[in-house]
Amino acid sequence: MLRIRLHGRGGQGIKTASQILGTAAHLAGFQAQDFPLYGAERRGAPITAYARVSKNIVLERGAIAQPDILLIGDETLLSDPLASVTEGTESSTLIFINSRHPSPDLKKHYQLESLPVQLDISGLCQKYIQKPMILSTALAAVGVRLMGHIGLHHLLKAIRDELGQERLSADQLANNLKLAEEAFQKVPSFDLEFRKFDDGFSASHLVVLERRPPVDSVPVIFATGNMALRKTGNWRTHRPVIHYEECNGCAICYARCPEGDIRMDANEKPVIDYDHCKGCLICATECPKHAIEIIREVASWN
Ligand code: SF4
Ligand code: SF4
Repeated sequence: MLRIRLHGRGGQGIKTASQILGTAAHLAGFQAQDFPLYGAERRGAPITAYARVSKNIVLERGAIAQPDILLIGDETLLSDPLASVTEGTESSTLIFINSRHPSPDLKKHYQLESLPVQLDISGLCQKYIQKPMILSTALAAVGVRLMGHIGLHHLLKAIRDELGQERLSADQLANNLKLAEEAFQKVPSFDLEFRKFDDGFSASHLVVLERRPPVDSVPVIFATGNMALRKTGNWRTHRPVIHYEECNGCAICYARCPEGDIRMDANEKPVIDYDHCKGCLICATECPKHAIEIIREVASWN
């Protein structure tokens, strides 16, 4: 069995990436399982998805603690200890990071045990679908390619099947297929070996989880005004930047920001609270003067 864990943020298509991966594996003749795991948080919050691919029936259930492949859609998660991105990895774990930084720099900066595979899939998404935040197709393509054993034609069919349910236009679907093809070809294939105990897996290996009280998974907070204490600015993958020479102070961005992260200053100009702005970019979409530029966030070490 090969176990693949995907990390990203809500809204990046991480769940869809795991579905495409699972479907591609199924089309290639494997048994496959895929599913996401996320809490009550929303766009921008760290999420995880999983895929298991096996030559035999998949009896294992639940989160993958020790992945063979780790696909990281957003490198800023590596700086967030709560996201636990590298948990359970070993020197043999194949790690992919969506980044513009070279692989040796990523290894050094994030103190990884092995050299990760690196590709700027956000850049590819911008090139083909003009949505650098929607990583599903490209991340799935990278996962399929790294794993090996699955042909490009199976990947493309899986994308047609999965994205076909999302009411994309013919052009959008065609661009996603081109995107997948380039991402697939830009990373090496490792043709990973399926772990030997795959064949001997039986029900006797199942783990019965202890029932935990609900408070173990949700914090109980008594402090007043605590929302401001949770700095959600590191969820952002793209940053809105106001060009004040273009801004007429209409305050539409102030009114439309769903997080209340824009205030109007004494000169009636908007000011963004970057500590809490999650990067939904509604302000940039709504600004009638097109005075808000969208800039890709990079890791704080750049
Ligand atoms: S919506 Fe645009 S023009 Fe209006 S205040 Fe905001 S940045 Fe300025
Ligand atoms: S991107 Fe704009 S609208 Fe979205 S949270 Fe940040 S400031 Fe608010």
